[in-house]
Amino acid sequence: MGYVDEVLARVREKNASEPEFLQAAEEVLESLRPVIDANEAVYRREALLERLVEPDRQFKFRVPWVDDNGQVQVNTGYRVQYNNAIGPYKGGLRLHPSVNIGIIKFLGFEQIFKNSLTGLPIGGGKGGADFDPKGKSDREVMAFCQSFMTELCKYIGADVDVPAGDIGTGAREIGYMFGQYKKIRGTYEGVLTGKGLTYGGSLVRTEATGYGLLYITEELMKCHGESMEGKTVVVSGAGNVAIYATQKAQQMGAKVVTCSDSTGWIYDPEGIDVALLKEVKEVKRARLTEYAAARGSAEYHEGRGVWQIKCDIALPCATQNELLSDDAKQLVANGCKAVCEGANMPTTIDATKYLQENGVWFIGGKAANAGGVATSALEMSQNSERLSWTFEEVDAKLKDIMVNIFHNIDNAAKKYGMEGNYVAGANIAGFEKVATAMIAQGVV
Ligand code: NDP
Repeated sequence: MGYVDEVLARVREKNASEPEFLQAAEEVLESLRPVIDANEAVYRREALLERLVEPDRQFKFRVPWVDDNGQVQVNTGYRVQYNNAIGPYKGGLRLHPSVNIGIIKFLGFEQIFKNSLTGLPIGGGKGGADFDPKGKSDREVMAFCQSFMTELCKYIGADVDVPAGDIGTGAREIGYMFGQYKKIRGTYEGVLTGKGLTYGGSLVRTEATGYGLLYITEELMKCHGESMEGKTVVVSGAGNVAIYATQKAQQMGAKVVTCSDSTGWIYDPEGIDVALLKEVKEVKRARLTEYAAARGSAEYHEGRGVWQIKCDIALPCATQNELLSDDAKQLVANGCKAVCEGANMPTTIDATKYLQENGVWFIGGKAANAGGVATSALEMSQNSERLSWTFEEVDAKLKDIMVNIFHNIDNAAKKYGMEGNYVAGANIAGFEKVATAMIAQGVV
């Protein structure tokens, strides 16, 4: 049995109850086969893959807090510090009822390669809790965040592990967590990114993942002799990534005709009204029915369905496993040319294969949504320097990073005879840097 198969068999045996982690590990290791095969003797002796799939450490902790009725509630918090071969652990905090250790491990594992791809010195980590901020008062969210940070602060630090936002963790939550860290540890340091602009946050961080997604999509289109101008784009999600992806796509001259949330979706043939979407989702924190009620051209549908709308480009920006095999078939039948992932692992392995086999240009989340963490790393640099760069400076650096990522993954795929396979290219380019650093640092 080859080295990859041996390690995968052991990973399946040890992590049978973590389907999302298994899916991520299989996707990465399968696509690394050409690199592993070419260096098998060294990697085997170093047990490199075994070390890569096992987190450095993981924390699981109780998060008690008091709701507005005086009732004590208890959630479970997690932080997985996966790999710090190339820099301090870095990765977001997800607050969603579906959170469990398998989901945090899948996200932390993917983060290693994504962070490496940015070209910046950041390792991989991820955390979160099964807490649902939806429907909670600001005071309840603060009580949860303070309790969560009371425990988490023991494990993080500006040069150790720097968490950020993710699903359910936006500027409000980061603010409450930062305040509690400062209160307990007594130091003012860049321990979290995604902070408010008045206390160390970076311009463009809010927009970064969505904007970065469009910068890499534009470069992909350019490379194939196309542009964004006049293209019809289908977006899923209505959160941070989806909103700013929609805004940048429109600035580039494309028309975005859909968005979705966890209960339904919108088809708006006139093009999504970003200001209205922000009002509904960021200010009122309401359902998309309110968008449809305020906009004559929009249709609201219950459930899921954005992938049935005819488009040139599809951008899944909601959550994992939201673009399935049948959706991929529908996209191909409708003539979709490109799929770039704003979310983490939104496309299943089968759907990805179908898209690639049918000539759709596909860039996975590790590369396509790396703009968020890249800008977080720029926030860390500014915090260390005690400086704040202008919007234009940060935006220009973000664009450079995304364009570089595209060419790195394109070249890595070509180097191993897989031209056009940007998924393999991303895994290979991300892996090579981490593997070299791990070997150089010895058995630790
Ligand atoms: P938000 O919480 O801002 O938005 C998430 C969106 O997805 C919301 O519209 C939400 O619906 C919808 N959603 C969440 N869970 C589900 C579900 N189970 N089924 C259907 N819809 C769902 O998160 P972000 O925009 O920040 O993150 C979106 C994705 O992008 C995630 O995969 C995240 O890991 C990834 N990502 C985010 C980065 C960032 O900088 N924010 C960076 C890199 C990746 P509702 O409005 O009903 O809650």
